[in-house]
Amino acid sequence: MSLPTTVRERRYQQYRDIFGEQFQVNVPLAKHTSARVGGPAEMLVTVRSGMELQTAVELAYSQRIPYFVLGGGSNILVADAGVEGLVILNRARQVSFRHTGFSVICTAESGTNLSSLARQCISKGLGGLEWAISVPGTVGGAVFGNAGAHGGDMKSNLRAALIWEPGIGARMYSVDELQLSYRESLLKREKERRLSRRTVIAAELELQPESIEVLTARANGFTAHRKETQPGGASMGSMFKNPENYYAGYLIETAGLKGLTVGGAKISEKHANFFVNDGDATAEDVRSLIAEAWNTVREQFGVEMALEVELVGNWEFVQ
Ligand SMILES: Cc1cc2nc3c(=O)[nH]c(=O)nc-3n(C[C@H](O)[C@H](O)[C@H](O)COP(=O)(O)OP(=O)(O)OC[C@H]3O[C@@H](n4cnc5c(N)ncnc54)[C@H](O)[C@@H]3O)c2cc1C
Repeated sequence: MSLPTTVRERRYQQYRDIFGEQFQVNVPLAKHTSARVGGPAEMLVTVRSGMELQTAVELAYSQRIPYFVLGGGSNILVADAGVEGLVILNRARQVSFRHTGFSVICTAESGTNLSSLARQCISKGLGGLEWAISVPGTVGGAVFGNAGAHGGDMKSNLRAALIWEPGIGARMYSVDELQLSYRESLLKREKERRLSRRTVIAAELELQPESIEVLTARANGFTAHRKETQPGGASMGSMFKNPENYYAGYLIETAGLKGLTVGGAKISEKHANFFVNDGDATAEDVRSLIAEAWNTVREQFGVEMALEVELVGNWEFVQ
C-alpha cells in the first residue's frame, strides 16, 4: 500500500535532518552491487561510522520502515523493481589493532572492505586473514554469511562481534553465540525467517604474528588459484551453496549448462557456479538462469541446490 505523499515527505525530511546529503531518494543500486544489476532503493543513506549505522537502523526500526544493510553488495541479487524502504549503505571503516600476550586483536567496523583488511594485516605481519585476500565485500557481510575460502573462514578468525539489536541496543556476541557454520549464521537464519534484523557494527578478529614474506606468498598463491579457476567481471560469486557430497559447479557443468545465456546473463564457461553479467543483464535474466540451473540439476541428479546468493527487493512485482 503506498503512503500519502505528505507522510513520505515528512519521513524523508527526518533523514535529511540527521544525515544531510548522505541521504538520497530513488538511488539505482546496480552501481552498489558486484553483479551491476538491480533497480532503485526508495531511500538510501550512506553511513560512515558505527554510530551512524546504529542511528540509521534504529530510526528505521522505530518508524517501522523496512531496512536493508548493504555492504559490498557482492552476495545479493537486487530485483529490477528495486527495494522499498531504506537501504543503509555501510561505509563505517574504522580499524584498530591491539596486542594481547600471544596474539593481536583487530577491531574492524563492519563496513571495512574485507580484502583491503586482509592486505593491511599482511603488511603488518599479522596472519590469519590471508584466505580473504580476494573475497569481495565488507566485514559485516562476511560475518553475516560466514564467508570463507581456501580452507579458512570468518569463524576461524572471529573472536566476538558488536551487534546492534533494534529496539534494545548494542551487545558483544561471542563467536559461539553467532552460530557460524558453512555460509550460515544466527543473523542469517533469523533474517530468512523474517525475525529481528540484528546488525553487525564491528568485529574483533584474532591474528597471529607471522613473517610478511610467508603471508604474502600464501596470499599470492590464493589469488593466482582464484584467477585460474574463476571468471573475472561482474558476478555474485558462487550462486548456489555446495550440496552435501557435491560441488554445485560440478553439478551445473555436468548438466550441460556452462555457457547458457539469458539476455545479458550467462553461466560462466570457466566456473559453472558463477553467473556473470556480460554487460546489460537484468536481475530477471539472472533469475531465469537460476531457475533453469536449479530445475535441470534436480531433474538430472535429484539434488535440490540452495541459493548462496540472497534475492533482495520487490521480486513479486516483476512477473
Ligand atoms: C567474484 C566474487 C567472489 C566471491 N568469492 C567468495 C568466496 O570465496 N567466499 C565467500 O564466502 N564468498 C564469496 N563471495 C560472496 C561475497 O563476497 C561474500 O558473501 C561477502 O562476505 C558478502 O559481503 P557483502 O558486504 O558484499 O554483503 P552484501 O552482499 O552487501 O550483503 C549480504 C547480506 O549480508 C547482510 N549484511 C551486510 N552487512 C551487514 C551488517 N553489517 N550487519 C548485518 N547484516 C549485514 C546484508 O543485509 C545481506 O543480507 C564472492 C563474491 C564475488 C562477487
